Amino acid sequence: RTYTEEDIREMVKEENVRFLRLMFTDLFGMIKNVEVPISQLDKLLDNKLMFDGSSIDGFVRIEESDMYLYPDLSTWMVFPWGNEHGKVARIICEVYTSDRKPFAGDPRNNLIRVLEDMKAEGFTDFNIGPEPEFFLLKLDENGKPTTHLNDSGSYFDLAPMDLGENCRRDIVLELENMGFDVEASHHEVAPGQHEIDFKYADALKAADNIQTFKLVVKTVARKYNLHATFMPKPMDGINGSGMHLNMSLFNGSGNAFYDEKGELQLSQKAYWFLGGLLKHARSFTAVCNPIVNSYKRLVPGFEAPVYVAWSGSNRSPLVRVPSSRGASTRFEVRSVDPAANPYLAIAAVLEAGLDGIRNKIEPDDSVDRNIYRMNLEERTEENITDLPSTLHNALKEFEKDDIMKKALGEHIYQSFLEAKKLEWASYRQEVTQWERDQYLEMF
Ligand code: GLN
Ligand code: MG
Ligand code: MG
Ligand code: MG
Repeated sequence: RTYTEEDIREMVKEENVRFLRLMFTDLFGMIKNVEVPISQLDKLLDNKLMFDGSSIDGFVRIEESDMYLYPDLSTWMVFPWGNEHGKVARIICEVYTSDRKPFAGDPRNNLIRVLEDMKAEGFTDFNIGPEPEFFLLKLDENGKPTTHLNDSGSYFDLAPMDLGENCRRDIVLELENMGFDVEASHHEVAPGQHEIDFKYADALKAADNIQTFKLVVKTVARKYNLHATFMPKPMDGINGSGMHLNMSLFNGSGNAFYDEKGELQLSQKAYWFLGGLLKHARSFTAVCNPIVNSYKRLVPGFEAPVYVAWSGSNRSPLVRVPSSRGASTRFEVRSVDPAANPYLAIAAVLEAGLDGIRNKIEPDDSVDRNIYRMNLEERTEENITDLPSTLHNALKEFEKDDIMKKALGEHIYQSFLEAKKLEWASYRQEVTQWERDQYLEMF
């Protein structure tokens, strides 16, 4: 729901809110916040609150550092914790430049822009249902996360195997306190691994929700002396953590992916959207799997996709079509991981799909066999390519794709590329323990 300024003032009084946490997200998906005392409320509501953007990674240069924070009143929320000094409320803000234009380097503004373009093309909503996975790790005596998983449970296990259960329940309760509609929570396949699914929402809300979700999960885990990590592959030899994105596109007459009479009851637009997703998969991987570690997850054998293909039934491919139809007709993109900046990842997959619709890109046939049992020759025959195997390879694809530039806008596209190249360069210089173990005595 949206709130008026009056509603906000009312709630501040009623709940005795003392501090405002003004949040936005940087290029790398990190939540940034400025906390101001409630005395600044009028200034905030008048869009007069300034901050220095030059200290935010990937944001702006020093000479253009004065930025405004414009509150999105619909994101008002009172935190259920940390209220020893009076209640704290948060508002997610849009970053504006000193000449009062939406700042192009703000990932949230960028998603708003892409959604406006989508609307101009006749669609009303892009809905996203995320499935974030995470690990709970024990803390050491100094409060630092260890690599000790907090249990040895597995998929859908119950207590006492699942020691994370109480913590997970507490997370679910806090999420509900904060207005989340939690649909399911369960232990994931790997020990110490969990998944909590909340109801889909329109793209912008869904991205905001993902950010809030991570904050809640991490905060509650601390209460249990655990560290929650969304790192895509914290441990080798067991599954990594994905953040599958379920997506559907709506127009005035309903779900644009559904057609009762279509093949698999999917519409022509659905097939084109899918064609776009597959065509740009190798380049959106850089955005949806943005860190060096992301690529340790995208390997065979751990339920994460490795090849560019789709299926109406089996779960190994990049894109799956879950069986529900009608208003719930959707695609599930399974490559995305929770290290992705949700605003950028959603913009990237949307722009890829829209490119498919604009250019009537037909997808290749679905692959309903187990791709992992096919050899290279069989895969080539079916036109199945690989997802990039490293951040470096993903960036090479990203650099070649104008649709990614369109999805992120020039400013973010360039800063992202620059930052990620540096990240790769730094990783490349590292000599790992694996190498010493393999080579030190051998050579
Ligand atoms: N953890 C798996 C991944 O990396 C997904 C497992 C599942 O949800 N079935 O995507
Ligand atoms: Mg799931
Ligand atoms: Mg899962
Ligand atoms: Mg899934």
